[in-house]
Amino acid sequence: MTATSPLMPTYVPSAVTFVRGRGTELWDAEGHRYLDFLCGLGVTSLGHAHPAMAEAVCAQVRTLEHVSNLFATEVGVEVARTLDRLLGGGGQVFFANSGAEANECALKLARKWGGRGRHVVISAYGSFHGRTLATLHATGQPAKHEAFQPLPEGFRHVAWCDLAALEAAIDPTVVAVLLEPVQGEGGVNPATPEYFQGVRRICDERRLLLMVDEIQTGLGRTGAWFGFQHFGIRPDVVTLAKALGNGMPIGACWARAEVAGTFVPGDHGTTYGGQPLATAAARAVLTTMEAEDAPARAAAAGRRLARGLQALPGVRSVRGIGLLLAAELAAGQSRPVVAEALTRGLVVNAVTSSAVRLAPPLLVSDDEIDEALAILAAVLPR
Ligand SMILES: *Cc1c(COP(=O)(O)O)cnc(C)c1O
Repeated sequence: MTATSPLMPTYVPSAVTFVRGRGTELWDAEGHRYLDFLCGLGVTSLGHAHPAMAEAVCAQVRTLEHVSNLFATEVGVEVARTLDRLLGGGGQVFFANSGAEANECALKLARKWGGRGRHVVISAYGSFHGRTLATLHATGQPAKHEAFQPLPEGFRHVAWCDLAALEAAIDPTVVAVLLEPVQGEGGVNPATPEYFQGVRRICDERRLLLMVDEIQTGLGRTGAWFGFQHFGIRPDVVTLAKALGNGMPIGACWARAEVAGTFVPGDHGTTYGGQPLATAAARAVLTTMEAEDAPARAAAAGRRLARGLQALPGVRSVRGIGLLLAAELAAGQSRPVVAEALTRGLVVNAVTSSAVRLAPPLLVSDDEIDEALAILAAVLPR
């Protein structure tokens, strides 16, 4: 068989090639304009070609790109301080290059903290935590595991939002619980305050770490800085990526200082993680988000978008928090609707066979929301 593409066939070939973006807008190679209500899977939360981002990245590339973690740089320390402040303080940060790597750090940290024999991490069915061998096993979607067995040992899955199932899965080998505040890839399934508060109580009683995967939900997406803040709890470990770099690859694992302090030099590392180019992007993201009060903007825009979706004929229900939303359609409708929306200039994706995910930039305007709703109204089957 002759390969027709130089790329491995891990993704369905795309119908569109994008060449330029600005804010919520994208343009393809033919010059057609689109509204980006997906943000590269929750990444470009400040939109495309944000001036503060462009400025920061260009200036950093001219100044200092990379010296490795054998040497100190200033910008990474500053970003770690800001993240710690936003997370409530008292923690330390490890920088990685992606979400899966941020979770790998959390998993290794949990094992080091737990000690020999206490290493099992419980996560939920329907979760998504990454594609490396360990984070794939943490991902509670058994169908994704099959081709890659045997996967690293030490993972257990329980029903989502079911405290009794969690209690029943705990034995002396368990060290941590890893959860998303809203399951993103699993279909935009929000947790409840009761569930997260119950998990916090169980983790305290059984001396387990509560590790929250905020890779998709973090940094304003849900209308709060972090998704867990909707539930009135504090986690022990938080992982971030996606919006942190607005497209520049960066991930971060934050942990309470007593937990983080179980790592000693040599336990974990990365060549690129925390390098000035990525952290300069993250610094610009955080500064801009704070200046614009991006979480509040996302909350207000999310209310408008959810209300508008609810009113569309063909939409059965709307779920999600802030600007991480899914419109539930009839069975089998999401893929055709997504394809038709794309031809009319709206980028969204099918998160299940019946649900369309919407995750526009946090600074999306009311006019852009209304324009997206009009496109959806035109393509939804009645
Ligand atoms: C996207 C995602 C990941 C994986 O991030 P990568 O950067 O693709 O490795 C992990 N967890 C959640 C919740 C995600 O949404």
